[in-house]
Amino acid sequence: MTEKKEIIQGFNIDLITFNEAIDVLVSKAKAKQGIHVVTINPEIIESAKKDKELKEIINNAGLVLADGTGIKIALNLKGKKQERIPGIDLAYELLRKANEEGLTVSLIGANQNVLEKAQETLKNNFKDIKIVYSHNGYFSNEEEYILLNKIALEKPNIVLVALGSPKQEFFIKKCLEDHPTAIYIGIGGSFDVWSGNIERAPEFYRTMGLEWLYRTFKQPQRLKRICKTLPLFAVKAIMEAVKYKYFCEGDNNGKTTKQ
Ligand code: UDP
Repeated sequence: MTEKKEIIQGFNIDLITFNEAIDVLVSKAKAKQGIHVVTINPEIIESAKKDKELKEIINNAGLVLADGTGIKIALNLKGKKQERIPGIDLAYELLRKANEEGLTVSLIGANQNVLEKAQETLKNNFKDIKIVYSHNGYFSNEEEYILLNKIALEKPNIVLVALGSPKQEFFIKKCLEDHPTAIYIGIGGSFDVWSGNIERAPEFYRTMGLEWLYRTFKQPQRLKRICKTLPLFAVKAIMEAVKYKYFCEGDNNGKTTKQ
């Protein structure tokens, strides 16, 4: 999608700033050019390594942004400057633009109570926001069919999908078939934060790149997920960076790919 990309462990990551990403997405939304945005972290990469279809979806996405601190560090180790682009911040800023520009929005995901509270927050913060369709994230296959039709009918400019990974990536793939002209972003637990049910990590943790640690304190059930993926990802990131630096034998032959 963007000019500059770097491959991390077989996944194309866009080298782009937060503001550039917002500009790209706003202009695409206005031009009705659909795009799938993946905000990636080491957990998603590790699970996509074991799932060919998920890997394909990620590598075909229009924008793959460095959400996780691990991704930022892996890029930095290869000498690429990249800031963290948290999906929650990207989505929130995009909603601010949608509010200003009259772009329509659809919210899919989380339980009904969380979804309603998140919507309430967004409507309070963005007075002119046009939420044309929303649905909780717990639906059967039959209900999914209805949901996809509804999205295709309402044709929102922006669809925020908070189903967690990989469910959100697979869902977005289906949405794109029926309504290909929207901006789709998978945003994990963002509605939980906007609803006030889960507290966002304080500024200190965010600037130190330790948001994942704070979330693990708050939701200890995440620990198993982190332990299973992070050490493996970290070792491979170091090996890849060493290989890249000394032998120029990275996945992309030591070059930043140009598209
Ligand atoms: N979720 C959902 N449907 C499902 C499974 C999960 O809507 O079938 C929601 C869940 O309620 C939560 C979010 O998806 O709001 C997942 O959040 P998580 O913190 O796991 O995502 P992350 O931010 O780690 O990607």
